[in-house]
Amino acid sequence: MNDETKCLHSGYTPKNTEPRVVPIIQSTTYVYDSTESIAAVFDEPTHSLIYSRFANPTVMAVEEKIASLEGGIAAMCTSSGQAAILLAILNLCDAGDSFISTTRIYGGAINLFSFTLKKMGIECIYVNDDASEDEIHKAFKPNTKAVFGETLANPALSVLDIEKFAKVAHAHNVPLIIDNTFATPILCKPFERGADIIVHSTSKYMDGHALQVGGVIVDSGKFDWSKGNFPGLTEPDESYRGIVYTETYGKAAYIIKARMQLMRDFGVYPSAHSAFLLNLGLETLAIRMERHSENALEAARFLEAHEMVEKVIYPGLESDKYYDLARKYLKAASGVITFEIRGGRENAIKFMDALKLASNQVHVADIRTCVLHPASATHRQLNDDQLKAAGVNPGMVRLSVGLENVNDIIDDLKQAFAVLK
Ligand SMILES: *Cc1c(COP(=O)(O)O)cnc(C)c1O
Repeated sequence: MNDETKCLHSGYTPKNTEPRVVPIIQSTTYVYDSTESIAAVFDEPTHSLIYSRFANPTVMAVEEKIASLEGGIAAMCTSSGQAAILLAILNLCDAGDSFISTTRIYGGAINLFSFTLKKMGIECIYVNDDASEDEIHKAFKPNTKAVFGETLANPALSVLDIEKFAKVAHAHNVPLIIDNTFATPILCKPFERGADIIVHSTSKYMDGHALQVGGVIVDSGKFDWSKGNFPGLTEPDESYRGIVYTETYGKAAYIIKARMQLMRDFGVYPSAHSAFLLNLGLETLAIRMERHSENALEAARFLEAHEMVEKVIYPGLESDKYYDLARKYLKAASGVITFEIRGGRENAIKFMDALKLASNQVHVADIRTCVLHPASATHRQLNDDQLKAAGVNPGMVRLSVGLENVNDIIDDLKQAFAVLK
């Protein structure tokens, strides 16, 4: 099936007289006809349902749809994108381990990596997105367990050279984890470029309607854990009857460990109703991503030609530093533009407050056009050096282009620029 078809049909195929739409199975638990049959489920927990803290049929239908869109073997939904990133790392790193991340990532991920994981004894080693293979090699330590980066970085909008990072990661026998939130599987399929694990904040384009915070981890099933140093996957798990994930679950070892160990213990699983809403978003994802990208390209061209604009960052523009990488990795450049207004922070705020159609909100990737000032919102906790490393400038506005008629979006920008004169 092609993506448009998978969006509508993967993950749920109703049988004779069953509901056309994925049903909401709103239940914490599942009934068994005997003590013995419950015992059997504990022996083979992946074959049946135990408890909705880590598995639920509505959520699982969505997991299967996302796995199929990304071309992975299995996926696990989480209650937020942050939770997906947290579990993706914790599934590989223990206290005393390290992992490498590029610097141009989501502000929340920077917090998690630089502060919270550090307190847990896990070190994040940062490398520049544009680092050479040699520089990435040099960042490795003997205890490094993974490499992390974003396909299309939020909010810097740099495009990651996934093949380069995958090559270096694999030379050290560690997996490449890609946050594919801004591209979505419609615009980029990181597994085809060498990535091993994908995470998403489904709160963005996948949901698309600003309804529901959520996340997902997808496993390619391609990484050979026995080659690297991953005792959590290749040695017995005491908390789970001494099971060895790679032996019992083979290619699905990583994602099953994430569910049976980490989801069991952390319990950051979405509710059935959340998954139902996410599924509605996914049904139109392919068609929405096309239009978001078309509208954004037109808005970016308008901004680039405007006298009050210092600089436009949108990898779909020929003038953009990442245009070539975008051509290589992305089908289209997605819906988010960042631009710098002449006059710095003060003018950026004035401009944003003058917008009428586009709303100020701490969100992106909504069907409705919205704006955000990263320096005073998502990246507020960062000092000027960290802001620079994350590719954020004080006069920078992040514009998330929605699905309104593009002429109305551009008219709104025009009238807000007029206020600055
Ligand atoms: C929003 C976002 C996250 C965090 O996801 P939440 O669902 O808000 O927890 C992670 N990565 C990227 C790229 C994001 O845009």
